[in-house]
Amino acid sequence: MSINLAFDRTHIWHPYTSMQNPLPVYPVVAAEGCELILENGQRLIDGTASWWSAVHGYNHPQLNEAVTTQLSKMAHVMFGGLTHQPVVQLCQQLLAMVPPNLTKVFLADSGSIAVEVAIKMALQYWQASATPQKQQLISLRKGYHGDTFAAMAVCDPVDGMHDIFAAMLPQHYFLPAPQSGFAADFNPDDIAPLEQLLAKHHTEIAALILEPIVQGYGGMRFYHPEYLRQASALCKQYQVLLIADEIATGFGRSGKLFACEHAAIQPDIMCVGKALSGGYITLAATLCSDEVARGISASSAGGLMHGPTFMANPLACAVASASLTLIAQGHWQQQVANIASQLSIELAACRQSELVKDVRVLGAIGVLEMHNKVDVAALQQRFVEMGVWIRPFNNLIYIMPPFIIQPEQLSKLTAAMRSVTGV
Ligand SMILES: *Cc1c(COP(=O)(O)O)cnc(C)c1O
Repeated sequence: MSINLAFDRTHIWHPYTSMQNPLPVYPVVAAEGCELILENGQRLIDGTASWWSAVHGYNHPQLNEAVTTQLSKMAHVMFGGLTHQPVVQLCQQLLAMVPPNLTKVFLADSGSIAVEVAIKMALQYWQASATPQKQQLISLRKGYHGDTFAAMAVCDPVDGMHDIFAAMLPQHYFLPAPQSGFAADFNPDDIAPLEQLLAKHHTEIAALILEPIVQGYGGMRFYHPEYLRQASALCKQYQVLLIADEIATGFGRSGKLFACEHAAIQPDIMCVGKALSGGYITLAATLCSDEVARGISASSAGGLMHGPTFMANPLACAVASASLTLIAQGHWQQQVANIASQLSIELAACRQSELVKDVRVLGAIGVLEMHNKVDVAALQQRFVEMGVWIRPFNNLIYIMPPFIIQPEQLSKLTAAMRSVTGV
């Protein structure tokens, strides 16, 4: 039986779309390796890793096995008062990978929730301290941290959804987005606004939240590690917690296991998600230091006030554990380095196009920033006709393919991107 597209169009919301005039969707029946297989049999090379998550590719034998083995034991049990091997094993593996000051793990059901939990951690930590008035956050313009309310409140106030939900959003401090590019010279003016803000308001500020190095959905920008290094030092100096949102960057995507490593910093709180479960099942985590955990326990609540129904779902933990086993084997390092150099070579010519404002590559991320907004539906159709799956937004045409992508497959993606620029 074929997929009922008319029903889908009439009754099912897709991300960020209208139900009156939705963008077209393509029916997919299977996926394997780096390919999506459409209902009509067409195979598309995947340039998205399903929004950063499917780093090992689709239908992976070890990941499949982790799910099915766990499924035969138990799909889910509540996490209040119970624990299980998949969660213990996953957290052991995770803690062995992250900056060593991070020792405690909260399993959340999505990236946005991991950010909510990180914010709760920071607020609860200061409530128990000598300075309980520290309850405000600092965020960066062009940042993206998720779609739930507290997460939305720290997304870019212009490009985010603030104007729509202003009445419901807490007000935080926003700093200019760092301007020094990843490999450019560092301009010390970049960090001055943070220093000034902290000097003036640190007694009311709980935490700085940022995406280390890669500002993802707020513009696919790559900023200088020195900004991150100095931001971390200023947070320490002014007793402000640093929350690193590694939901997009975690597990190798930027060329380091975590983007914080580009600046050799250790955040107080870190969020991971997306690639955590290898693209199989929704799962995220918020990690924190001993010090933060101690503070939270001393708060009047006595514990961290969050506990979702499907917390630490065993199927999700089992597949995440298998995904981290693959990450720990370390092949990602060569794979990401190869993708980075191939992207740099094959996208370079796009700089000559008048339509293109900038071409950027970092790790396994390749970005064409166009001067104008693209027509997503038209471009998507063109890409599908060319046999590739690339999902542009605003003025950005970008890819972050599975790490296992083969050079010929990647060339198909870059050729499709290049064709849009006319060079
Ligand atoms: C995707 C993303 C989120 C939100 O994660 P969801 O799982 O979509 O809720 C938060 N922060 C960053 C940096 C992200 O890229």
